[in-house]
Amino acid sequence: MSAIVEEIRQAYATVGVVLDQRATYGTYYRLLCGGCGRMVGNVGDRLLPGMAQALVDGQFDLYAAGLLGCPCGHQQKRTQALDATRWRAGRERLGVATGAGR
Ligand SMILES: [Zn+2]
Repeated sequence: MSAIVEEIRQAYATVGVVLDQRATYGTYYRLLCGGCGRMVGNVGDRLLPGMAQALVDGQFDLYAAGLLGCPCGHQQKRTQALDATRWRAGRERLGVATGAGR
């Protein structure tokens, strides 16, 4: 596994997404949910060092709100565990109810 692929794998692991085997076509890797194994997307390996972490970091709010990732909610739980304050702020920014005050 190349250094950049390892970097992509580690970046997605922080939000509970598993990098699968390289797809048979091209230079894409499937992204699987770390909770249930469902395919949640794919990613190309033509990234520069540092880009993978920035990419995943930029999607934090979307994972927190459940707008990105798996319907089973694994990425929501992972991002909440990662940074609860940012998680709450991200969900509020995207208009997802936090469940508080009901
Ligand atoms: Zn899942």
